[in-house]
Amino acid sequence: MQMRFGSKYQHLACDEGCNCTNLEGLATALSRREFFGAVALPIAASAAFGINSALAQDADDGAGRISSELASKADELAKADTDRLVTIFKDIHQNPELGFMEERTAAIVAKELSALGFEVQTGIGKTGVVGILRNGSGPTVMYRADMDANAVEEATGLPYASKVRVRRDDGSEAPVGHMCGHDAHVTWMLGMAKAMVALKEDWAGTMVLIGQPAEEPILGAKAMVDAGLYTTYAVPKPDFFIGIHTAPGPVGVVLSSGGPKMAGCDQLDILFKGVGAHGSLPQMSKDPVLMASLAMVEFQAIVSRTITPGETAVLTVGSIQAGSDNNVIPSTALLKANLRWYSPQVREQMLAGIKAISEGIARTYGMPEDQLPVITMKGGSTPLVNQDELAERMATTLKATIGEKNVVTELPPATGSEDVHLLLGPHTDVPFNYLIVGVADPAVYAAAVKEGKMWPYSAHNPNFVVDLRAIPFGTRVATISMLDLLQKT
Ligand SMILES: [Zn+2]
Ligand SMILES: [Zn+2]
Repeated sequence: MQMRFGSKYQHLACDEGCNCTNLEGLATALSRREFFGAVALPIAASAAFGINSALAQDADDGAGRISSELASKADELAKADTDRLVTIFKDIHQNPELGFMEERTAAIVAKELSALGFEVQTGIGKTGVVGILRNGSGPTVMYRADMDANAVEEATGLPYASKVRVRRDDGSEAPVGHMCGHDAHVTWMLGMAKAMVALKEDWAGTMVLIGQPAEEPILGAKAMVDAGLYTTYAVPKPDFFIGIHTAPGPVGVVLSSGGPKMAGCDQLDILFKGVGAHGSLPQMSKDPVLMASLAMVEFQAIVSRTITPGETAVLTVGSIQAGSDNNVIPSTALLKANLRWYSPQVREQMLAGIKAISEGIARTYGMPEDQLPVITMKGGSTPLVNQDELAERMATTLKATIGEKNVVTELPPATGSEDVHLLLGPHTDVPFNYLIVGVADPAVYAAAVKEGKMWPYSAHNPNFVVDLRAIPFGTRVATISMLDLLQKT
């Protein structure tokens, strides 16, 4: 699978007149919900068939919010900067860093933004970076790129694939790979920053660019705010806040859609205490492995039997940790769980259910009141909601620039989660929009659809690939979006 994908990628990237633009089969995607990693995405065939024009950089002559002349300048700048940006992208890709360990990536962001004349502050919430560029009076627009990678062993077979392994704080060793495209996010932000500096005469206002740590554990945005983003570091309250995430949809397609898009989430650990004993003497034990196992099974009834059908509610136990030997009953067992929700009431129901079931099982198996399971809340996020008006405004500008068919505006709420919006801290009234940009080779995407797959690979998959054509394309999308929000009046 890995080799097949690798060789397909090589072939389609060549100049031998490959059928890169053959989108046959995408018609089957019509009105179907495509699931791009953490994001459920309805790619209508019309949108998918428009990919060619986006890659060819054709623009509609529709009414955009920035002039077509300015949009062309942004396109040219992205094009001219492609080699440099691809070099930056490959460098970050080959040197991925896990959440709160992004020293090297943060240094690249700081160096590049400083060179462009941004006021740069570093070390915010451990490894966060902020770059501010003031360019006359106008709105303040905040833009975020997350910098962290995943504990996933890359299997793309690309010449610049990551081979990095890291030792975590708990002593365990983990592979590290950019399997969520945050390397592209950083590169797009740096490309956009350079283009915006070159176009300084064409916009007015203040840009606040954020290199955010630790999105994957949903901790970095809050860490930056808690570290004093708006106080100690005096970042101004933005008038608009935007971000962009990759998705394994085809390069050339952008989503800008208002309303609730990504679920609220919580990460929590449930520690079962017991009494350890020899494996041959279960009567001497109070077995925490059994308690944790029973609890994990019963948790499933919370969603199926207590939550109103139709409500979004996900309860996943992603890790069970207990013991180390065949013949030893350990004294503790740990469950690591993850919740997804849109309604705060659903969240409360799931948390209450976890507590009641865990404690009930512990009591049933003889644990005293002071030895009941300990639940540790490890952080989370509220649901991500794009402001309708801003999403529509950005979609209008993008449609006029990259083609109407390439901008998808209908996107149902997904169970994936993000913490980007938590960067607003106390300023929850700021209009916010989170764009999704396709990064898969369109031909690879089309082939996957033809085979009946919903997507060629998902985010966090060892084969997640950012097609290099997405580097200038995402830069272009970011620049056009910033020009729109910072246009001179
Ligand atoms: Zn991500
Ligand atoms: Zn991710």
